[in-house]
Amino acid sequence: MTEIINQNNDFFNLKKRIVVKIGTQVLINSEGKLSPASFRTITEFINALKLKRKEIILVSSGAIAAGRNVLNIETSAKFLTIPQKQALASCGQSLLMKTYSSYFKKYNIKTAQILLTKDDISSRKRFTNARNTIYELLKNDVVPIINENDTIATEEIKFSDNDYLSALTANLACADLLIILSNVNGVYDKNPSLDKFANQIKIIDDIKHFISDFKDTSKSIHGTGGMKSKLESAYIASEAGIDTIIASGKNKKVLEDISNGKITGTFILSSGEDTNKKKHWLIFGMKKNGSLICDKGAEEAILLNHKSLLASGIIDVKGNFKKHDGVYIANEQNKIIAAGISNFDAEEIKKIKGLKSSEIQLILNSINAKGIGIAVHKNNMVLL
Ligand code: GLU
Repeated sequence: MTEIINQNNDFFNLKKRIVVKIGTQVLINSEGKLSPASFRTITEFINALKLKRKEIILVSSGAIAAGRNVLNIETSAKFLTIPQKQALASCGQSLLMKTYSSYFKKYNIKTAQILLTKDDISSRKRFTNARNTIYELLKNDVVPIINENDTIATEEIKFSDNDYLSALTANLACADLLIILSNVNGVYDKNPSLDKFANQIKIIDDIKHFISDFKDTSKSIHGTGGMKSKLESAYIASEAGIDTIIASGKNKKVLEDISNGKITGTFILSSGEDTNKKKHWLIFGMKKNGSLICDKGAEEAILLNHKSLLASGIIDVKGNFKKHDGVYIANEQNKIIAAGISNFDAEEIKKIKGLKSSEIQLILNSINAKGIGIAVHKNNMVLL
C-alpha cells in the first residue's frame, strides 16, 4: 500500500480539490503570536499546490492567537473566558486575513473569508449556499479561507474544533483530499513526547477500527495533543470517500514532499464508499433536535425495505423539534437506527402518531394528500 501511494504519482494527480486545515500551533511563534516565517512556509506550500493545478480551500485557526497581537489580554489560553476568546477572535480574525492576503500577494493569489457556525452546516439551505459560494470562488481562482465564526459561536452552536470543521468543509466542498497540518508529524503508536521508541504510523487503512483501538488501548496508543479529534475528522472525511493526510505544518521539507506527491506524515485511506453527499450531511452535518420512536413493523420497513417512516409506525416522540428539523429514529428498545428530516413539528406528530393517513387528514388539514402521514421521507433519511 505504501508503495502504491509513494511511487505512483497518479494518486496525487487525481486529487484535484484539497482542503488544507492549518492549526493555530502552525501559525504562531513561541510567544504565542503570529509568526511571519510560518506564513511564508504555508503560503509557499499553497502556491506549490496551485502550480500543480489543485483547487485549494483553507480552514485556518489562529484568530484567537492573532488577537494577542492586538489586545493586551495576558491570560493563558487555557484560562480565557468565552467573552475574552470572542474579543480576541474578533480582533484577530481580520489580522489573520490581512496577514494571509499580504503573504499570498507575492504569488498573486486572491483570498476570501468565510466564517461559519455549526448552525450554518446544520441548515441544508445555508450549507448549500456556502457550497455555491465556495464553487464560485474556486471558479474565480480564489482561495477561500474558512474559520469558525467565533464571535457568535456559543457552546450550543460551536463545532467541537476546527478539525471537525475541516472534515465537514471537505464534504461541503466535495474535496478529494483533506490535509490536516499541526505541529505534530503524524499519528504515532505511542506518545512520542513520552516514549522515545514511539513509531510513526505511515498508513491507516481502516480508520473506523483504528479509532476504536485508539480509545480502547489509550494506555498504549497515544497521540499527541488533539490527535483524537484529528482521527475522528479523518473518519468523517473517510465516510465521504475523502482521504486524509495528517502532517506537520512546521516542517518545510514535509510540505515540499506533499506538494510533490510524496505522502509523508500519516495517510488515512478513505473507506472508498463515498457515502452520498446528502446522506453524509444527514449523518454529520444536520443537527438532531429530537427522536421518533417507532414500532417493530416500521423498524423492519426502514431497515429491510428502505421505506419512509409513516406516522402510523411511530409510538413515541422525544424533543421539541420543528418541521424540517433533523431527528433520530429509534426502535422500541430505544436503539437509534436512522436519522432524517421530520416533515412535522414534534407537537403535530404527537397528535398523529399511530394513526392511518385517512385519520391524519382529518386532524391536520395543511398537508397534501400525496405525502400524507410520511413523518420522515426515505430520501431524507439515512440508516445508522
Ligand atoms: N476558531 C479558533 C481560532 O481561530 C480555533 C479553533 C480550533 O482551532 O479548533 O482561533
